[in-house]
Amino acid sequence: MVDKVEKIWMDGELVPWDEARVHVLTHTLHYGLGAFEGIRCYARDDGRSAVFRLPEHVDRLFQSAKIADIAMRWTPAEVTEACLQTIRENKLDECYLRPLAFVGAGAMGLYGRDNPIHLTIAAWRWGAYLGDDGLKNGIRAKVSSFTRPGVNITMTKAKVVGNYVNSILAKREVVACGYDEAIMLDPQGYVSEASGENIFVVRGGEVITPPLGGSILGGITRDSVITLCREMGIPLVERHITRDELYIADEVFFSGTAAEVTPVREVDERAVGAGARGPLTTRLQARYFQAVRGPEELHPEWLTFV
Ligand code: PMP
Repeated sequence: MVDKVEKIWMDGELVPWDEARVHVLTHTLHYGLGAFEGIRCYARDDGRSAVFRLPEHVDRLFQSAKIADIAMRWTPAEVTEACLQTIRENKLDECYLRPLAFVGAGAMGLYGRDNPIHLTIAAWRWGAYLGDDGLKNGIRAKVSSFTRPGVNITMTKAKVVGNYVNSILAKREVVACGYDEAIMLDPQGYVSEASGENIFVVRGGEVITPPLGGSILGGITRDSVITLCREMGIPLVERHITRDELYIADEVFFSGTAAEVTPVREVDERAVGAGARGPLTTRLQARYFQAVRGPEELHPEWLTFV
């Protein structure tokens, strides 16, 4: 269960948590056309709170809306301020933020282009998405039997509500088999990403991740990890990855706002490397947590102080 906080931002107003409701004929509820974001705010070592890469998340929300043909009624500056206001009003030092733009009730039927567009921003405390133990010791992943849709099936660069049906089916399938997370292959059979994270493979000291020109979301954590790799002098390539490359990898890890940098210790019953968090993953994870939490401000431009 999500831990309730006091208020949710809804169409320009902060309303009590239990009053943030919608009509059952909300178009998005029926057909899945909506755009959302997942953002984290961290309590930093110096006692201040900072939202990690807020402008990039707000940009991606607007890009998702554009791709999904959702006409936003707010400007990026207004959405940015609303995110900060939601954190402040709820007196959260650390939280996950969920802006959601959706198509409201009006006409039924698929078109719905004249229906009102709503925007809500909720915040709640959220620990390690794949568990504290997962962050330390790695998680167990399985390649899902569900294929990640190709690039002209769903729009993979958009965080569109309906896209997540595919992810949920994959996640539930592998959890039912006793695994923690699903890895998805694209229609050509190449590794694309996990149900809600991007994927990285380490082999022979090189870090490899699938290219943006495929069926993957342009993860903001992915971008942060790539930047950190380059700064740390770790060779990084963006290229297709085959399923069996996961089996012979030295290390595999996921990146995502919710999952942060999570090591993968097993794929399809095969131990990844030594079957534990690998050395490069350990270094990158530590660097990532330093960027988000401090004490050093590795990238001040990534932080928006609350
Ligand atoms: N892929 C998918 C499908 C996701 O839902 C997410 C989470 N937003 C990611 C990758 C990781 O993206 P980010 O690092 O921006 O959270």
